[in-house]
Amino acid sequence: MSATRNEADVIVIGGGIMGTTTAFFLRQRNRSVILLERGLTGQQASGVNFGGIRRQGRALPQLAMANRALRTWQRSAELLGEDVEFLAGRPYARVLSREGRRAF
Ligand SMILES: Cc1cc2nc3c(=O)[nH]c(=O)nc-3n(C[C@H](O)[C@H](O)[C@H](O)COP(=O)(O)OP(=O)(O)OC[C@H]3O[C@@H](n4cnc5c(N)ncnc54)[C@H](O)[C@@H]3O)c2cc1C
Repeated sequence: MSATRNEADVIVIGGGIMGTTTAFFLRQRNRSVILLERGLTGQQASGVNFGGIRRQGRALPQLAMANRALRTWQRSAELLGEDVEFLAGRPYARVLSREGRRAF
């Protein structure tokens, strides 16, 4: 019977995009990680979103992070060994509900 390892450098709670990427990049930095997910990874918001990395219409302070996210997703195949169906270059259609007002 194998022993269960129940300690790690970092314990991450929640296996959505935030938790799994945190765990992934911690492992890349040679930290041991335990990821606790109460159900299935990606079963909540991370599994049902539109998959967009919006850069237009963002508050300027958010743009650097959006650009960094795009660069990271573009490296999916290199980082994960598969492209996770990431497709670049599909802009959002912006819906105008009323003059001067935007609905995303
Ligand atoms: C319809 C929709 C469309 C969206 N479109 C976009 C988009 O185009 N672009 C974009 O960037 N964002 C989009 N988002 C937002 C994006 O999906 C979320 O910001 C992101 O997925 C949040 O990730 P998360 O890991 O924080 O949360 P979640 O994906 O919700 O993951 C949290 C996880 O924690 C687990 N958990 C919770 N409590 C516990 C506990 N006590 N113990 C163990 N596990 C626990 C849950 O089971 C879940 O799996 C969209 C969201 C929705 C709902």
